[in-house]
Amino acid sequence: FQIFLLVQLAQMAATKVPEVRDITRIERIGAHSHIRGLGLDDALEPRQVSQGMVGQLASRRAAGVILEMIKDGHIAGRAVLIAGQPGTGKTAIAMGIAQSLGPDTPFTALAGSEIFSLEMSKTEALSQAFRKAIGSVNNLQLERLSKEKVQAGDVITIDKATGKITKLGRSFTRARDYDAMGAQTKFVQCPEGELQKRKEVVHTVSLHEIDVINSRTQGFLALFSGDTGEIKSEVREQINAKVCEWREEGKAEIIPGVLFIDEVHMLDMECFSFLNRALESDLSPVLIMATNRGITRIRGTNYQSPHGIPIDLLDRLLIIATSPYTEKETRQILKIRCEEEDVELSEEAHTVLTRIGMETSLRYAIQLISTAGLVCRKRKGTEVQVEDIKRVYSLFLDEARSSQYMKEYQDSFLF
Ligand code: ATP
Repeated sequence: FQIFLLVQLAQMAATKVPEVRDITRIERIGAHSHIRGLGLDDALEPRQVSQGMVGQLASRRAAGVILEMIKDGHIAGRAVLIAGQPGTGKTAIAMGIAQSLGPDTPFTALAGSEIFSLEMSKTEALSQAFRKAIGSVNNLQLERLSKEKVQAGDVITIDKATGKITKLGRSFTRARDYDAMGAQTKFVQCPEGELQKRKEVVHTVSLHEIDVINSRTQGFLALFSGDTGEIKSEVREQINAKVCEWREEGKAEIIPGVLFIDEVHMLDMECFSFLNRALESDLSPVLIMATNRGITRIRGTNYQSPHGIPIDLLDRLLIIATSPYTEKETRQILKIRCEEEDVELSEEAHTVLTRIGMETSLRYAIQLISTAGLVCRKRKGTEVQVEDIKRVYSLFLDEARSSQYMKEYQDSFLF
């Protein structure tokens, strides 16, 4: 079983696994490619513009406190809820938290409505999402870096900052000794013979990927075909046990990532009780939920509650609110997106786009950037002008104009 896993993992390391099914996820994350963190200073105070983040200071400050709680291990059993209107940066803040946790931190996003599919049960879809958000860094490839010999079972330490390696010998295995060395030090028990010093060549896979390659006959190819199917709970239990064993042996590290569930009011009681239970688990990512609803009915019941979330789950939540952007902030966010998409805008075009962002939605205005860039290139221009913005504004409807159109169409149809 272990050899099979190792071989599969090594193959995966050599191959970039395409995410066939997760197109919505890619798009959702692509829109946030400019976000590189929460943009906080050392005192956890948000800078007005930093790491791609603009404004939304109060929520970013709160997110900074949550970040510290996560790092100190005080988030277990709890979750975060970000409440605010569409386009106020709920997803962006969740991503900012994940990025601040480190470059290998997995980030998985899904919308509440996505789990209602015919392919698998709601709780299976949630289980898979949870496990996608937990990474396992496997140290599979060892490289000889020095002549110093160690024996099987020897313990070596690797300073995480400098990479310096020290041999401690076999006796050095007590937890007390480990603690004395501090968190900067990583302990590795040598598996065989005269291997180490070792240079780490690491890669991260999610627990979900390990689940899939071990429960499908076509192994890791299942990930190519998108055939994830339902996964038996025994497989998950086996994987958990194996990964924990690897961790003990220094062969793997477990990295809890961030699971972001948007439109959480779309979930029903069965899902909420799943979340309550999952938060208790040892292997749980940080759960961040988002909603733009106030008091609303809990799906599938006749009860109303804040954000459509049952009280027992609400009790566990740290709630952050986001608020709408000023014109100046909208302008700044649009500017950052233009840089990210490599689209040059004239000053006037930028003003018009900002106005559109304020009057329709930020997300709509962001979408016009690439389309306006395309129209500009077609006319062999180098800088998007007001005309290009006007053109794409008339080609593509925002939500309000689109519903208006449908209403008019419906009226003429009816009468
Ligand atoms: P929804 O409720 O519709 O899911 P949301 O509140 O999650 O919306 P986002 O999707 O995070 O909003 O924001 C819309 C776009 O604006 C995204 O491209 C996001 O990266 C960007 N954005 C939002 N807030 C900020 C911010 N404070 N700084 C920089 N970019 C931001």
